Amino acid sequence: MLYHSTNSNSEKVNFREATIRGQAPDKGLYFPDSIPMLTKEFLSSFKQKSKAQIAFEVIGPYVGDTITEEDLFQICEHTVNFDFPLVRVTDNISSLELFHGPTLAFKDIGARFMSRCLGCFSKTDSRKVTVLVATSGDTGSAVANGFLGVGGVDVIILYPSGKVSKIQELQLTTLGQNITALEVQGTFDDCQQMVKQAFMDEELNKKLFLTSANSINVARWLPQQFYYFYALQQWQQKEPPVVCVPSGNFGNICAGLIAAVSGLPVKHFVAACNSNDVFTKYLLSGELYSQQAVATISNAMDVGNPSNLVRLLEMFGSDYSRIKNFISSYSISDKETSETISRVYKNYNYTLDPHGAVAYASLEKYLNEVDGQATNNRGLFLETAHPVKFSDVVEKATGATIEFPDSMKHLLHLKKKSVMIEAEYKALKSFLDS
Ligand SMILES: *Cc1c(COP(=O)(O)O)cnc(C)c1O
Repeated sequence: MLYHSTNSNSEKVNFREATIRGQAPDKGLYFPDSIPMLTKEFLSSFKQKSKAQIAFEVIGPYVGDTITEEDLFQICEHTVNFDFPLVRVTDNISSLELFHGPTLAFKDIGARFMSRCLGCFSKTDSRKVTVLVATSGDTGSAVANGFLGVGGVDVIILYPSGKVSKIQELQLTTLGQNITALEVQGTFDDCQQMVKQAFMDEELNKKLFLTSANSINVARWLPQQFYYFYALQQWQQKEPPVVCVPSGNFGNICAGLIAAVSGLPVKHFVAACNSNDVFTKYLLSGELYSQQAVATISNAMDVGNPSNLVRLLEMFGSDYSRIKNFISSYSISDKETSETISRVYKNYNYTLDPHGAVAYASLEKYLNEVDGQATNNRGLFLETAHPVKFSDVVEKATGATIEFPDSMKHLLHLKKKSVMIEAEYKALKSFLDS
């Protein structure tokens, strides 16, 4: 399997090179040269297979011969060794809970897979890789946890001081070993800007081999297909589900779409957005414009220019009518998000996090709109984070306290370790130089 750049101006590379580089030299995103199709045999038997076996068979063609089958199976086993329950919320709506991993967010899956792949590659590569990430909370904790103790890889995380939740900060700053947390005296945008500048700094890149760990990286993006198969494994209806994905950078939904293109039965996709509604507007008008990101209570989706939209367009040959037929999108305000958390808690005794709430509200709108024709339309949404990670917002909406999960209690006794730096590239550079 080779990967080409969506900008078509870079040489094609295999999975190993695409993972190590992150982004193509022409600044495009790597995309599989041909999408492997699932066999009839697999589609009729995967419901009986183990999670690790499904992951292994789905990702195999994408990895090719860059990792041995034995190593790949181990990586898969490690990546998915927690639960992915599909929980019924109403007669028509179920929640695929993706927050049972070590940092309580779906980003654990991609981060765990990518870190083990890089660890595997670095065994036979003299280059020491430095992973540099900016985070508003979830990415950093999943990446830090996934890469902890992986040989040949250093991880540096920039996060905005005072702007991540308590549990997120503990997850970022208490690991030590090969993980360093830089506490930036500024905003998430400052952190992102500083990281971007580091990637463009030629002098620095001669000294350090930098790579990113966001969903631009194929090794983080592609394993996100796995849990769409686990959802279908648990789906009891004859009709395939409508699947609704809370979307920011559109990595998650693009992984679901590639699974569907390769044969996984899904009736329709709904891209759930907060007030950052570039894609919702695109479906209405056919025109794609990037916007300035606006801050919302579902802040992991505050993206003004979603990087994976180029992959979405590529998958459908930029055919607007095909895209429109298969995907719908809604934009949900903060007010509606809070009201949804409150209403679903009261009526169904289910606690949503703000990102899941945006998805729930979007799915409900979609099912109501088509309900006139077909009352048996049913769907599921991806619940991408545990509500405790956003306890301020959730407790205000429900009026109930959220229990700190047992698996997180040990964090409360650990000591935060971070390096405070100014929100200027100079400060990051002098840290990296030392
Ligand atoms: C990152 C994130 C999202 C958005 O996922 P994308 O792949 O960027 O679209 C949604 N919810 C939560 C909780 C996240 O951390």
